[in-house]
Amino acid sequence: MSLIEKFLWELFFPTKCVFCGNYHSGYICPKCLSKLPMPDRYCQLCGRPLTGINEICYNCEREGAIWDGFEFLGYYRDTWEDVIKALKFQNKPYIAQAIAKLAKERILKRNWKIDIVTFVPLSYKRIKERGYNQSEYLAYFLSKELKVSYGSLLYLKKEIRPQKELNLEERIKNVKGAFEVELSYQEQTYGNILIIDDVYTTGATLKECINTLKTKVRYDKMYAFTVVRAL
Ligand SMILES: [Zn+2]
Ligand SMILES: [Zn+2]
Repeated sequence: MSLIEKFLWELFFPTKCVFCGNYHSGYICPKCLSKLPMPDRYCQLCGRPLTGINEICYNCEREGAIWDGFEFLGYYRDTWEDVIKALKFQNKPYIAQAIAKLAKERILKRNWKIDIVTFVPLSYKRIKERGYNQSEYLAYFLSKELKVSYGSLLYLKKEIRPQKELNLEERIKNVKGAFEVELSYQEQTYGNILIIDDVYTTGATLKECINTLKTKVRYDKMYAFTVVRAL
């Protein structure tokens, strides 16, 4: 592309691919998008890959789920790992914005009626280090994409250790009682809530957040969305 072409292109199609920086009218160029595989057969409640004809995996059928639906973009490996790293450490809100556009497509496919989007709070230590909470960015942009309310419903009332250092039992203990609903949001009725996190591993953090919400607000349906899910 010559300089003048570049100039004209930018004038009419002002966005660049958020991952490779190449000029493209969308937020993510087709080449980068092709490196981000999104599964189409998975458990509607936890995202586990499915082999049979059921919509829900054996585990969820047996144990049920704390939410009415779970959605995600990809499994936590390969290029998706780079996306999460970029989202977590580069402090570039437009990456969250690009991911929110992909998330919107997935959520519209599920026909969920969302009234408010919220997110899992991040430890104050992490926020101090990074300057932001990636899930908060995502929730904000996704609420804009879906044209619904956005609310910072939860906060952390005690410092927690990074969940990735812990096993399942320790993870549950680590987040137990760690969250609280912001006073201004308590005792309200919200219709359907969508809660956002970046990575789903054991679900311990998301579940604790939802349990906390259950005690302090009224809602109809609870949906959860994470960018990636561990395999
Ligand atoms: Zn690209
Ligand atoms: Zn499942």
